[in-house]
Formats: sequence, structure tokens, C-alpha cells
Amino acid sequence: MDGSSTYAPSAPAGAGTLGMELETPLIFEQGAPGRSGASLPPREGFPDVDPQALLGAAYREESAHLPEVSEPEAFRHYVRLSRQNFAIDLGMYPLGSCTMKYNPKVNEWAARLPGFGRIHPFAPDARIQGALELVWRLEQALAEICGMDRVSLHPAAGAHGELAGLMMIRAYHQAQGRSPRKVLIPDTAHGTNPASCALNGLEAVPFPVDEAGVVLPEQLAPLITDDIAAVMITNPNTVGLFESNIKEIADLVHAKGGLVYGDGANLNAIMGRGRPGDFGIDVMQLNLHKTFTTPHGGGGPGCGPVAYKQILDPFAPVPVVEKDESGQFRLDYAGRPDSVGRLRSFHMNFGMVVRAYTYIRELGAEGLTRASELAVLNANYLRARLADAWHVAYDRVCMHEVVLNDRKLRETGVTTMDIAKRLMDFGFHPPTVYFPLVVKNALLIEPTETETRQSLDLFVDAMNQIAKEAQEAPEIVKQAPHHTRLKRLDEARAARKPVLRWRPPTADAD
Ligand SMILES: *Cc1c(COP(=O)(O)O)cnc(C)c1O
Repeated sequence: MDGSSTYAPSAPAGAGTLGMELETPLIFEQGAPGRSGASLPPREGFPDVDPQALLGAAYREESAHLPEVSEPEAFRHYVRLSRQNFAIDLGMYPLGSCTMKYNPKVNEWAARLPGFGRIHPFAPDARIQGALELVWRLEQALAEICGMDRVSLHPAAGAHGELAGLMMIRAYHQAQGRSPRKVLIPDTAHGTNPASCALNGLEAVPFPVDEAGVVLPEQLAPLITDDIAAVMITNPNTVGLFESNIKEIADLVHAKGGLVYGDGANLNAIMGRGRPGDFGIDVMQLNLHKTFTTPHGGGGPGCGPVAYKQILDPFAPVPVVEKDESGQFRLDYAGRPDSVGRLRSFHMNFGMVVRAYTYIRELGAEGLTRASELAVLNANYLRARLADAWHVAYDRVCMHEVVLNDRKLRETGVTTMDIAKRLMDFGFHPPTVYFPLVVKNALLIEPTETETRQSLDLFVDAMNQIAKEAQEAPEIVKQAPHHTRLKRLDEARAARKPVLRWRPPTADAD
């Protein structure tokens, strides 16, 4: 079990190579007046074009202060920046609750096919039958995976899916002449849950979970009254445990006329093994950018489809993709008078839709099931191997993520933040820290199924070495990171005196 004594900290992948050490000026600070990487035809070639008339209100008199750089300068600048970044393509990224799994590159190939990549959002339905069919098929696949009746792919993120689902719940109650306002949310919930309630004019009512980390029906029952619009529940929850009483909870809520919202961001733990629709969820969001391998974390736009039972269908966002008897697909706006309306300009982050569909077709039902099984196995492997040196918050079999905290290091003065910073020296992205809030000083670790046994072992070695350093040489941990391009930052100064914008030097500036 002890590889820690031989494991030496190494620099993160890419560090130490040429370019990493170079201080990179902002692109605005590079180049020279008149230098350009673009070649546009001269203005004189178009005597009839009056830019002012053409651009209208967008026409500007003064310079836009764009950087004046050559193509190689621009290219090198961004490649250099990319090498100072951390990404799932560089190493393990166990950021709990975010499901940072590897994104298969075949997804990128599919999303770039010209028929998908180049369609115009205003293209008439007849010209985009293939794209509409793909949307329709993905909706069907996700509905099947979740045990729901239909899916809308419009929401642009998980939180947007929550917003859409709660809008539908509100519309459902209103259609029955009711307007219950309260939404019960366990204190393990993601912060987006109460925020989505607030945006809907609903009142988030938090309640504590049991010591074992799950919701108990007998604790919840007295809170479920006639003015409850919904219970919002994440399953598996954010401490990595399956809410095994979910069906009983759903029955209690339904008996009082309320609905059950399922935060489906953690679907990666149960995909293929359990279906939220079968355990009483009425409406949920999925995070394609987590479970279904579309890139996220600075790497691309999200997609947070909302999946729902038939009772909520009249309220679904428009447009809805419909298929007629002749097999033609169309975007239906008009046939849905009770819809909550449009969620965004145009339709959806379509590139994400293509990537998620590709992933599902690549893995098939068996592959998706195997993925969630391995995600759970990997988290439990870490839990078992880290339990000697670390305090495991809920010491029992977990789902796809495991929560540790700094309890065993308390006398050393080393904090959860120090541990996260030190992990960067070993080439790992830190886990989620100080969340979930119910575990003090938490480290929420989600390895995902795409890590090998070897990379999990390296992570365990790094964690165990940090635990040892905290006891024997705590300053090493407290002053970390040591091997990243920037060392420990002054967080107070960054928060109090943030410099967020470059400003052109003015004549009177020094
Ligand atoms: C990630 C996450 C969300 C929010 O999803 P975004 O796509 O980041 O908006 C909501 N709930 C849980 C449990 C999550 O992990």
C-alpha cells in the first residue's frame, strides 16, 4: 500500500519545456503599429461601399485598439497560453461533481462534419432534416436512459435545465389554478438549486440530511404540506451517496400534489443501472457536458437537456422537434399554447448534441452501463486506498465520488486549500474543495471511469505523500504550489484589488 516514500513530486505535464518559463505579455502588449496578419482587399477597390451606411449604429469613429500582430505572433501567443493551462487531455482532473471525463475525439470529428458544423440557425426545416433527426434521436435515447417520456435539448447548461424544469413545474401548478411557492431542498444540494428557485419566484426551503448523508422520509414528511411546489433532489447526492429512499419520498410529495425535480448532474454514477423516471422523478436535467462527454471547464459551451414525464409535456419549451407520419421532422412553435416559451435565441448548443449522440452510439447500452460501473469502482478504489491517511467523511460504499476532509491533519495547520494547491505540484488538477458544505473543509474527489488503475495509484501516492509532508514538513504544503508557473497567489489582494481589464496606455499615463 505504500508507494509514497518513493514517489517524488514532478512538475505538471508540459511544465519546464520551452515557453512555460517565458513571461507571456498580453496580446495587446505585443506587435507593432501597422502590423497585421490579415489581408483584406484595399478600400479603394469598393468605391460604392459606404461603411458608415453599411454598419449604421455599429460604425465607430475612433480606433478599436485591436492588437496589431502578425499571424505567427497571434498563433504563438495562444499556443503558449494553452501550454500554461491544465486540461483533461493533460492529466487526471478529479473535480468532484463536475465529471471531468475524457472526451473521445471521434465526437469532435462528428461535430465538425460540414452538414452539422455549417448549418445556419435560420435554415428551413426541409433543408436540415438530418440535423432534426439527430436531435429527435438524441431526445429518444436520453428519455430511454432516464426513464422519462420526453426531453428538450434547449437548455445551455445544467443550471439552465434546472431553471427550465422549475418553470415547467410552476406552469403545471398554475394550469390547475394553484400556485404553491415552496421547494424543499436538502442541504447537500448544489448551489444552483436554490438559485434556480429564486429565478422562478419560488422559495427554496432547505432541510438537513441525516448523519448518514441521505434524506430520510420520516424527517421530510412533516415538511411536505399543500404549499409545496416540489422537492428538488440530487441522486446520487453531492456527498456521493445514493438516495435509497427516493421512491418513498416521491410518493409522499405526489400525495400532496407536489412534483419531484431530480438534479441529474450525477447521472454518471447510475447510467444504465437505474432510471430516475422509475424512482418517481417527474422532471430532471442532464448535463451532456458531464455524463455524455461534451467538453467543459473552459473548453466549450454546455448543454443541460430537461427530461420530463408526460404530465409536463404541454409546458415544454418551444420549439419542439416533431416527426409526422411521412417521417418528416419539423420545429413546432405554434401547437403549444401552454409552453413556458423559448429558453434562448436559436435552438440549442447543437455541437454538444452531435457529440453526445456520437458518444451514446459509440458505447451503446452495454458501454454506458460499463462506464457508470467503472466510475463507481474507481471512486471506491480511491476511498479504500486513501482511508488510512485521510478521514473519509462517510465511510461506506460510495457512488461515483468520495468526500475526504482535513480532520486527520488538524494539528499540522495544513488546510484543505493547501492540499489542493500541493496536488498541482504532482500534476493533478485539485478536487473540488469546501463543497459539499455539509462536510467541513471537504475535498470532493470524482475520478470518473476514464482513469486507469495506474493514474489512480499515482493520485493515491501523491495524496499520501502530502499527508506525510503535512506531518513532517508542513511548510512545503502550506507554501505550495512550487512547480507551477505562478506560485502561491495573494488571494486577499486578488479579491480586493482585482485587475480584470487591460486599458490602452494614455498619453498622460506614466
Ligand atoms: C454541475 C452541477 C450543476 C450545474 O450544472 P452547470 O452545467 O454547471 O450549470 C447542478 N447540480 C449539480 C449536482 C452539479 O454537479
